[in-house]
Amino acid sequence: MSTPPLAGGTTGPDALRPLLAVVLDALHDGAADRGGPLPAGGPDAVAARMRQAAEPVLPDTGTGAGEALRSLVHAVAYGSADPADPLCAAHLHTPPLALAVAADLAASALNASMDSWDQAPAASELEAAVTRTLAAEVYPHGPDPDALVTTGGTESNQLGLLLARERHGSVQVVCGAGAHHSVHRAAWLLGLPEPVTVPSGVLDPAALDEALTDLSGPLLVVATAGTTDTGRIDPLSEIADLCERHGAELHIDAAYGGPLLFSAERRGKLAGLDRAHSVTLDLHKLGWQPVAAGLLAVPDRAHLAPLGHTADYLNADDDTEAGLPDLLGRSLRTTRRPDILKIAVTLRALGRTGLGALVDRTCATARLLADLIEKNPRLELYERPTLSTVLFRPTGATDEQTAAIRRTLLAEGRAVLGRARADGRLWLKATLLNPHATPRDLANLIELVEGSTPR
Ligand SMILES: *Cc1c(COP(=O)(O)O)cnc(C)c1O
Repeated sequence: MSTPPLAGGTTGPDALRPLLAVVLDALHDGAADRGGPLPAGGPDAVAARMRQAAEPVLPDTGTGAGEALRSLVHAVAYGSADPADPLCAAHLHTPPLALAVAADLAASALNASMDSWDQAPAASELEAAVTRTLAAEVYPHGPDPDALVTTGGTESNQLGLLLARERHGSVQVVCGAGAHHSVHRAAWLLGLPEPVTVPSGVLDPAALDEALTDLSGPLLVVATAGTTDTGRIDPLSEIADLCERHGAELHIDAAYGGPLLFSAERRGKLAGLDRAHSVTLDLHKLGWQPVAAGLLAVPDRAHLAPLGHTADYLNADDDTEAGLPDLLGRSLRTTRRPDILKIAVTLRALGRTGLGALVDRTCATARLLADLIEKNPRLELYERPTLSTVLFRPTGATDEQTAAIRRTLLAEGRAVLGRARADGRLWLKATLLNPHATPRDLANLIELVEGSTPR
């Protein structure tokens, strides 16, 4: 076999063109064969089909680019939970925008690595500009806002806790019961005491006040702007006031709700966000980016100093002194994808107004689903949505029946719904992120749930 062509340089695009045609056809055909949000038949059927397509995984003699791309991309597309289908609405699992995926292809082809300037001269400059701009959206009053690019909310929360620990030696984390599980894992990973959990639907300021009064030593409150289970936003300004009064620091996990900043109509819901020492954002949720697209924003670049690190081959002091930008302190990772390119392309292509309109449309879709549920006596709505999450269940159903409805729809490949426990009961969770979902799609979703409800 001849040496396979490379993706870069002037010859790369011509090598890519016919391969991309194969990939695009396989994506189309796989989705068409699936014909719904999820392959039918559950894990056993998917496993059997995948085995058939993937074996042998490492043949002695390769099958060639065309065959391998065609068969594996087709099989994975067929067997995917596809968030571009409006009935795939379980998780904060976003349908990526085509333009962002196209940009990501360029990122892969160029393969900049963000750990040193000599591997990413332009991409590192772009990252600096975009992170400064996004951080300034969070912290319009500075003093010198900056953001790190991460793999998502989990890594951002870890970094937020790490930076607080580095400021104080150790910190006691205090968070609401609805805080993301990654906050607890980050505390464990960083050798911090187990977080103190304050009971919450949203973090209750009175209960937080009490907890902060009882605790001593350096404290870090973690508030959430958009919980994963319900989309609720903690009362950020009141929490920031309490933190000030008690001398506690504040990290806000806005992995879900952060992009409300782009919406003139909705950004007021995030009032108080800029009073946090650090803020987690995740553009692979309400930002329609392919994974990964996380950020950790801070009001002052100087707060990032504890991440500074030197490795002679990447950022020797004499290189830095001679003017080569030092990038290693912008992540705990070394080799790092230029995830900033797809983000930059999206921000520029849509603008603040375009992104805000997508956020608004998505939140309006959730309100519409809530309306349909409220009007339907056979269904019970948990609450009006804050963001784009709607919890509901069949009226009078048990938790077991509610859980079974979700599994039935998964097994049939007809709808992908999540689940959440709230007020001691189990609810079906629709996390709506698809800006193309229509009222007809929402009515279908409700019909499917009703059709799977035992009588
Ligand atoms: C999704 C989510 C996270 C974790 O983000 P990943 O991108 O999955 O790592 C953290 N916090 C909240 C509130 C989330 O919704």
